[in-house]
Amino acid sequence: MLFFFGTRASKVKERKLKRTTCPYCQTQDSFVVSTFSKYFHFFWIPIIPLFKTHIAECTHCKKSYDKTHFTQEMQHSLENENRLNPAKRPLWQGCGCLVLVAFFAIMMTISFYGVYMRSNNPEKYKIEVDPRLALLNADIDRLSSIVQTKDTVTLALKQCVDDDIVGGISTEDIAYFTKQNDDKLLILLEIRDIKKIDSKYRKELIDVVEDCMRYTNPKDSITQYFIGIEGKWNTVLVKTPFDEDLGGRFADKQLLLPFYGDKPIALEEKEMGSVLVE
Ligand SMILES: [Zn+2]
Repeated sequence: MLFFFGTRASKVKERKLKRTTCPYCQTQDSFVVSTFSKYFHFFWIPIIPLFKTHIAECTHCKKSYDKTHFTQEMQHSLENENRLNPAKRPLWQGCGCLVLVAFFAIMMTISFYGVYMRSNNPEKYKIEVDPRLALLNADIDRLSSIVQTKDTVTLALKQCVDDDIVGGISTEDIAYFTKQNDDKLLILLEIRDIKKIDSKYRKELIDVVEDCMRYTNPKDSITQYFIGIEGKWNTVLVKTPFDEDLGGRFADKQLLLPFYGDKPIALEEKEMGSVLVE
């Protein structure tokens, strides 16, 4: 990581120091002063110009002096030169700065343009959300570890799962929610201490639920089970008649959406349209 940023210097001007005498060899008007400009660089890209330094060299005896060792005469001559023929810093020493300013200006323009376009075409940029997802999220919010006695389906399931479940799970903390939609039954469980079960064995929880549904056999009219198991933070297992996600860590809860019915037609068209465009 050394030297990725720091200061560098470049020579910007060479001038003669008139009416001077070299203190070493006594030659007159023999000094050439080189002016260097220091700049701050980052990865060798000049970012900010800093200060200037001057080094005078006697062309006769080759002795050189930095500015702190200039004689009064040399000092005076340099001041004169600076007035008549100043050493200007090259523009490129600040170019990194300019590039950064230009870059931010372009980024701001692009994002303002995006905001402007969106505010003028709200329809085009509206993000379509499957309305079934809102229904599912509302049902997930209704998970409860307290099951009402009149909710016979859930109660039977809870009693069965409590008996069958293993792995040190505290059964009184498991939250349940069930909901029927024609011949479909949505079964949601929330097991907040699911981390006590190794992820590769978690899919057995689905087996427990399925066995319990077969055993309790709540209603003959139900032919399809949509089972989702929530962990502390996210959905960890999903199994439906059409799909399953049983890796045991992060499951796609959207697989449960067919429980609420078919995908809205408008969304389907939009997705097909975007596939064609791509
Ligand atoms: Zn000299």
